[in-house]
Amino acid sequence: MSAHRRGCPRRFDNSTDGFASYSDGKEHDQMAWLTGFPREKVDWFPTIDPEKCVKCGICMNCGQNVFAWTQEGARVVRPYSCVVGCQTCANLCLGNAISFPDIRTIRELYRREGIWAKVKKQLEESGKLKADPLP
Ligand code: SF4
Ligand code: SF4
Repeated sequence: MSAHRRGCPRRFDNSTDGFASYSDGKEHDQMAWLTGFPREKVDWFPTIDPEKCVKCGICMNCGQNVFAWTQEGARVVRPYSCVVGCQTCANLCLGNAISFPDIRTIRELYRREGIWAKVKKQLEESGKLKADPLP
């Protein structure tokens, strides 16, 4: 397990056209998402080491409601609501108690399943992006 420190927690609403939009009530461009690939097949969610958790509570700020608070501290209750690639809770965890899988496994999955290509195709088809081959 490596602790990569990138990402941003935002709430998304999946839509049928393969895009998702922010649901914070403001206007945003639509954001490419998993293009219909089942979220449950993406092995990306936080794991808490209870020995390291100092009950700071900052992980409860996750906009995806991945965590629930218990008498023993935070617990992961909705792992597949975690935004793939996000690691904000780990970045801010006071006890360095949160870890994620190696991001390279996700990048390998995206390449294997053609997710980058599908996202790009959707952007092109929606007129948001001019057709251009991936590098
Ligand atoms: S659980 Fe952590 S990594 Fe996942 S969306 Fe929430 S803040 Fe981001
Ligand atoms: S952010 Fe880390 S230390 Fe703080 S409550 Fe969550 S798991 Fe525990």
